[in-house]
Amino acid sequence: MKSLFLFLLTFFVFQAKAQIKFIYDFECANVDTAISSACYQTNTICFSPKLDSINTENVWFYFGVTGFRRDTIITVLMDYNNKFYPPNYPVVSYNGKDFFNVRAFQRNHLNHFYIEPKSDTVYVSTGYPYSYSRLREFVSSFANNGLLTIDSSHFTQGGRRIYCLTATDSIVKKRHKKNVWIIARQHAFESLSNYVVEGMINYLVSHQESANKILSRYIFKIVPMVDIDNVVSGQSGRMCYPRDFNRDWDTPIRSEIQTIQKWINKTPKRRYDIFLDIHCTYPGGSITNVFSYFDIYGGGSCTDNLTRFWQRFYTFAHYRPKIIDDTSTYPDGMSADFYNARKYKHLQFSTTIECDWNVNSRGRVWQIGDYLNLGENLLKAIPSN
Ligand SMILES: [Zn+2]
Repeated sequence: MKSLFLFLLTFFVFQAKAQIKFIYDFECANVDTAISSACYQTNTICFSPKLDSINTENVWFYFGVTGFRRDTIITVLMDYNNKFYPPNYPVVSYNGKDFFNVRAFQRNHLNHFYIEPKSDTVYVSTGYPYSYSRLREFVSSFANNGLLTIDSSHFTQGGRRIYCLTATDSIVKKRHKKNVWIIARQHAFESLSNYVVEGMINYLVSHQESANKILSRYIFKIVPMVDIDNVVSGQSGRMCYPRDFNRDWDTPIRSEIQTIQKWINKTPKRRYDIFLDIHCTYPGGSITNVFSYFDIYGGGSCTDNLTRFWQRFYTFAHYRPKIIDDTSTYPDGMSADFYNARKYKHLQFSTTIECDWNVNSRGRVWQIGDYLNLGENLLKAIPSN
């Protein structure tokens, strides 16, 4: 009898103390702790990403949980208010570093997914996270690379270094070369675009014959992360106040955009050839291939150049993006592709590329390796003769 009493006492004390805890004290983390809740008995976590002036589209979440039961599956419920925001394939990690996709299902304004409790702590996110720290580490690994120079002399509004990388074959004289400008991560939650940029840079310094060829013909100027401050603090970023970074190009209020415009403007006009802005679609909605690019010209020689670019891309990648025909810039502000197309009319083309979070054209969920390959194939599609 006494032992039963002790067992019951221990059980109830344990139950009273057992509590699932959210972890969000790390770079890029986002969860609305005022709304989120957890139930130990049912091993269920219910959460919402933050919704405020910087997270107007509360699409990005990234947090850890601990203190859950290890004897039954964890149910995760994401509260959402727009069908394009809840990911169909969120990612999960047991160590905070290596992530894998799980399938999610939307019912009654809750995005449901399930996690096997294989470790004491699990991390979940909208998609594969890519932090500013990772970017800094990646960039610094090229400090002594003869093909790449790094300008980090300019800062964000929050005082962090903005990187502008230049890749070219410096033995070939500058006046024979054209310039390709590439920017990414104007919207902080669009983490996948940074894997694409990694793929591009890895290819440029790979010493492959085709890479050497384009380095002798072009100067690649790459700003891999634009909205650094919101990436670090884990904000969604897109449509944030006072103005979305990619609506800020006509009369910029963002110092980051002003800096990038000054850099681009230093390019000799006749030598500036192509502008690429790498983004991501929303992670929800259709799960079929939504990898796409914008044709902002609606016909003419730039549209023809874009078509040829994607035909060349197809010969390397064996899949192609959908076209978004959009010949008018946004009413709430000018985007980077329109700014560059209008200011530099002689460009071969200026375009925005939207990477996908869901199922690719081969029926597989996009993985980090696919994004790296996408970056490589985008540069292979640039004409080398
Ligand atoms: Zn975007």
